[in-house]
Parts: sequence; structure tokens; C-alpha cells
Amino acid sequence: MECFKTELDADGILLCTFDVPGKTMNTFTKQALADLLAIAERAKTDAEVKGMVITSGKTTGFCAGADLEEMLGGAWEAKSDPSDPEGALKAGFAAAFEMNRVYRQLETCGKPVAVALNGLALGGGLELALACHYRVLNDGPKTQVGLPEIKIGLFPGGGGSQRLTRLIGAQAALMAMSEGKSFKPKDALSAGIVHEVVPVGQEVEAAKTWIRTKGDPVALWDKKDYKIPGGGPYHPAGAQIFIMANALLRKQSYGNYPAVVNLMRAVYEGLQLPFDSAIKVESRYFVNTLQTPQAKAMIRTFFFSMQQLGKGSGRPAGVEKTDPKQVAVLGAGMMGAGIAYVSAQAGIRVILIDRDDAAASKGKSHCESLVKKAVSRGKMTQEKAQALLDLIVPTSDYTQIAGSDLVVEAVFENTELKEKVTKDAEAQLYTGDKAETAIFGTNTSTIPISLLAKASVDASKFIGIHFFSPVDKMMLVEIIRGKETSDETLAKAIDYVLKIRKTPIVVNDARFFYANRCFIPFTAEGLHLWAEGYAPALIDNVGRATGMPRGPLEMMDDVALDLLVKITSETAKAMGDAYVPIPGEKEVAQMVADGRLGRKNGKGFYDYPEAGGNKSLWPGLSDKFAPTITDSTPELAEDIRKRLLYIQAVTAARCFEEGVISDPREADVGSILGWGFAPWSGGIVSLIDAIGTAKFVEELDELTAKYGDRFAPPQLLRDMAAKGETFYGRFGKTDAAKAA
Ligand code: NAD
Repeated sequence: MECFKTELDADGILLCTFDVPGKTMNTFTKQALADLLAIAERAKTDAEVKGMVITSGKTTGFCAGADLEEMLGGAWEAKSDPSDPEGALKAGFAAAFEMNRVYRQLETCGKPVAVALNGLALGGGLELALACHYRVLNDGPKTQVGLPEIKIGLFPGGGGSQRLTRLIGAQAALMAMSEGKSFKPKDALSAGIVHEVVPVGQEVEAAKTWIRTKGDPVALWDKKDYKIPGGGPYHPAGAQIFIMANALLRKQSYGNYPAVVNLMRAVYEGLQLPFDSAIKVESRYFVNTLQTPQAKAMIRTFFFSMQQLGKGSGRPAGVEKTDPKQVAVLGAGMMGAGIAYVSAQAGIRVILIDRDDAAASKGKSHCESLVKKAVSRGKMTQEKAQALLDLIVPTSDYTQIAGSDLVVEAVFENTELKEKVTKDAEAQLYTGDKAETAIFGTNTSTIPISLLAKASVDASKFIGIHFFSPVDKMMLVEIIRGKETSDETLAKAIDYVLKIRKTPIVVNDARFFYANRCFIPFTAEGLHLWAEGYAPALIDNVGRATGMPRGPLEMMDDVALDLLVKITSETAKAMGDAYVPIPGEKEVAQMVADGRLGRKNGKGFYDYPEAGGNKSLWPGLSDKFAPTITDSTPELAEDIRKRLLYIQAVTAARCFEEGVISDPREADVGSILGWGFAPWSGGIVSLIDAIGTAKFVEELDELTAKYGDRFAPPQLLRDMAAKGETFYGRFGKTDAAKAA
């Protein structure tokens, strides 16, 4: 037995400690399941074993779920499933089937089984717990339980969809599983997912006490007369739940997520069957889900790619790892204050600089309010909050920069000002003991890095470190290489981004870099539609139906209309005669001139009531463009959907052609973490790969004929289409990914 240690106590309770060797967190590997099966068999046959307690030997928690790497990496392929009607030997099926079989063996071993959850239990970890007869959870600050499979395009396939439903009722279980919700200890207790919450360290004893005193070896659903809370689908109340859930899920997911649909089917059908048949139904739908392009792309992006980029897979090899201890942030405005906060959160000392002490202190006050919020939500202890704030030194004195490992410049978006502060800051940065090793990063969103680098005394140490707003929430950081940026500087910038627990993508210097370059066309396409007479509500409804977090007009309000107008006018200036005006841009400029700046002042495309509550369309919009198309048809919605998604995707393809970005993983992760690109697709280039390059080119040609050259496919796409290539096939860095 490799993954479990067992120990029989004087009362005949077998303590099974889950501890996968060589890993910081337990996951269910093939070996772990084999061990668990052996344990279940021992419980069944060994008369000395009166009951069992399963716990974990890891300080990080109980178990994070099934081992996806193994599950999808071929370890399971040899297993066949006799009940699979097509005789498919799919790895996922084998794993899910085995997991279900083993958990069921444990559940029906005839001895009481309690689980002592010493922290996080997610996915297959919670599914195991649900197969135990009694669940004890500790109240540790990081403890949580949940079935988050939906977030990677799957649904619980280790019995979770059937057991949770039977335990807490269809409505609550469907809500939890379709959102991938995780529960803190007291919520897990009140939801009825666990039986008991105890202080850290007392889980095992509490579990043993239950075995000694009550120790019931029969699962609720195996008892005669067991009634599912709220009723099953054959119960009138139960049927109602499914009708409502169906409508709700359709509204939320717009049919983009086969996992949600299959979850519903598995639960609906499963509830009408005895438990052993129900888990077979679950397995079948699980495999069906696993085979969908959405699940494959989501697993790749949300699981593998994010993990690899989160470990710095884009970091140049051969540069020694660095550990920045002090950063100087120039500009204590919205971005600068956010950057100071996330840096201090990672234990980095921050010199927060602004024009005068009052402005610098205002930036620190912003950090104070973030800290307050985190403390009030129980996300940060008072001590951690104080330690974080103590690390931030607000000042207007540039000499304090000396000794920093890096500067992050976030002053107003103005080239002359940025050049001036770069010179002033470097005069301090490149002195003293960090003179040789320090680097300079700029958070500009539009000015070319190589242009700003001209003001630097050493362009090889100059780089773009582009955060997204709000900095404390947005996980992506775009790192932009200037023409002269060295590998060493790039590596240091990545080390800093990883230290503050963000995900870096590395891009080359070009107008708007990568994320904004692809995102802005989404909003511009919204303007095109508006000017063509589509009703704003229609545009935004279909916009959301694509899977984007908001429709294009709502999104413009969120970003701020004045900022977009400024970006448009600067683009026009920079492009000169080549600039093609966007219909509607003049109207938006007029809205800004009339004081409609977007959500930030409560007035944009929508009116936002001061007291909160729902926004409503600004009636004045129809004076600018009278809506002539107000009713949606499936064809119309499909046309808008394509326009809104494809305009972004074709821009991403151009970024590959121009070498702005070169790794499909970075393009996909960047699209999702940077601007909320439709998550169901697995990201922007996964979308193209799933459509197929040839079909995508064909559809782009049609859109170009109808709507103009902005949809024209770049030569790269035509070449790829001719060769039948995908982005992951042509640009995939599988070796680097494996090594990472
Ligand atoms: P902001 O106006 O909120 O803050 C700018 C700050 O710079 C102000 O506090 C100002 O007092 C300070 N400043 C001006 N001159 C200075 C000087 N000489 N020395 C020190 N500080 C000085 O702007 P912001 O939204 O935080 O943007 C800052 C930078 O970040 C810009 O380059 C912007 O393009 C970029 N950016 C913004 C966003 C966004 O969503 N707002 C996103 C990514 C990047």
C-alpha cells in the first residue's frame, strides 16, 4: 500500500491516512484507488476491524480531487468496462468507473466508515467523503469542500452527482454543482454536507467517537424508505425543480456548457433509479462530457495551462531564480495603489511614490480599505492585515527608491511624464547595492515599451509589466518585451509576477500589446451593431449569450467611455490615413462631452441608480441611432454571436502572425484571465481550433463580404487552413509544457 497508511487501534478502529508520496496535496491516482479498494476489502473480511476513519496525512488538506494528469494521460487506457455499450476503452470512463466502484465498495463494506476532513476536500476528495457514512470537517481558515468540476467543463463523475442530490436534495445540489460552489465549514454544516465541524486537530477523535458510539454502516440512500429532501423528479415538487433548474441553467449557460446539460440529465435520470444503476448513468454522462471539445479545451486551459504558466513556463532558462524584496511603485493612483497592495500581500516592501505626500497617502488609504474588506470577510487576519500595511511606505521622496529590486511605473498615461519619472527614478534605482541587478517595469497600457525605453539609461533592463484593473482581483499580468529587453530582465519580471501570485504571459511590443488589442474590437463591434440599428438590449443580451461576462455596450460602460474615446483618438492619430473610423465613435465622444462617462459616474449607455439596483438603458440612446432591429431570431442571434466572438478571434490570429504572442496556452489563458473571453471555449485560440481553421477561414470570408475587411483572415490562417493545422498543432509548446 503506497498511498494510505493504516493503523488498527485498541477499539478495532482502522485509521487510514491518505498520503500520496512525493506530493504536497493528495489527489486520487490509480494507485490510491487500488489502495482504497484493498482497505474496503479488508474492512469487509477482517473481523477485528469494527469501523474505519479515513483522514489525510497532508498539512495542505484532505484531497484536491481526481488526478487529472493520470486520468487524461493514458494511465487508465488499458481498463475496459463491460457495461459500456459501445465497448469504449476511454481513459476517463475507466477512471470514473473505477472511482465509483471503489467508493461503492467502501460504502457497502458492512462496517461504519467516517471521514475526518482536515482541510480542503474538493471534487473526488469530497466525493469520497460523501461515500463515507459520517463526515467530520475541521474549521481551519483554508478549509473548504465542494464539487468544482463544472469549472473545467466536467461534472462530478465519482458518484458526487448522485450522492449530493440524495443528501441535500436536487435543488440545492444542482445549484452547488452547476456553479462549482465551495463551502466554508459552517456553510457545509448548515447545508447538510457534513455532520460535524470541529476545531483543527480534533477531526480524527470526533470521527472515532462517532464510530464507537453510533457507527451506522448503512448509507442513507441504502436504507429502506429513504426520502430525498425536496423529493425526486417523480415527486410533483421535484419535477418543478427540474423545470426551473432547466430554465435557469439555459439562461445562465446558453447551451454552451455540455457539462451542465449532462449534469442535469445524470441527476434527473439517476434519481429515478436505484443507487447502483444511478452511478452507472452518471459514469456514462461523465464520459460523454469528457469527450466534448468544450471539456477538452477547458481542462487544457483551466487545469494544465494555468498550472504551467503559474509555475513560470515562459521564463527563459538558465537565469537564476530571483526573489524581489522591495519594489518602488511610481504613481499611487488606481493602478499604483492596487500594485502596492498585491506586492505587500506577498511580503514585498513597497515604496509608494506620488507627486506629493498627500497623493501617496491616498494610495495607501486605498490599500487600507482593501485590507479592511478582506478582514471583514474573514479572508485575512488582523495581524496579516497590519503586517501588509506596515510594508507600504507612502512618500514623494524619490531617494527612497534606492535599494529596490524593481520599479513599477504607473503614473498618468503620458509619454513625456513617463520619460521624466523614468529618469528621476532610475537615478536612484541604479545606485547602491542593487545598481547591477534592479530592473524597471512600466504599467503603460498603450505606449510602446521600446519608445519609453529610450528614456532609460539601460534599455536591456526596461520591460512592460501590464496589470489589469482591479489589480487585486485580476489574475493576469502581461509582460511585454521591448526590442532590447534582456532575458535576465524578463526572468526577473516573471519572478516578481509569480511572487505576487499572478499568472504571467509574455508578449512582444505592439500597439495595445495582446489583451487589449483583442478585447477592444469586441466593444467596437458592439458600436457597429448599434449604428446598424440593432437595439442595444439585443446587442448586450446576445453579447452575454456568447459567454462573455457582459455585452459590448455594458462592457464599454464598465471600462469608462472617456478612456475608450481617448484610446480611439490616439489610435486614429497614430495610424493616420490608415485609420478606419468606427461608426458610432462620434456619438460616444458626444456622450462623453455631455458628461456620460460610463459606470464610474452612473451615466453611460445605461443609467445606474445611485442607490444601487438594476441599471436601465439610457433613453437618449435612441436619439443617436433609432433601433430598427429589436426582435431576435435564432439566425440573427447567431450572426451577432459570430461577429462578436470572431472579431476577437481573428485579432488573436493576427497577433500570432505578427509575433505579438507565440504560445497558444498564453493566448488562451490571457483571453480568459485578461478580459473574460467565453470560458466554455477554453480560450480564444481553442475556439478557432474547435471550429477548425478551414471552416473558420470560410466563415471569416463570409463575414468580410458582408461586414468589411476587419474580418479578413490573415495569411497565417489561410496557410494553416491549407495544411489542416491547428494553433496547438502548429505553435503548441508541448515539450516546454512537460518540462515546466
Ligand atoms: P490614475 O490617474 O488613477 O493614477 C496616476 C497617478 O500618477 C496619480 O495618482 C498621479 O498623482 C500620479 N502621478 C502623476 N505624476 C506623477 C509623478 N511625477 N510622480 C509620481 N506620481 C505621479 O491612473 P491609473 O488608472 O492608475 O493608470 C496609471 C497607469 O496604468 C497608466 O499608464 C495607465 O495607462 C495604466 N493602466 C491603467 C489601467 C486601468 O484600467 N486604469 C489598466 C492597465 C494599465
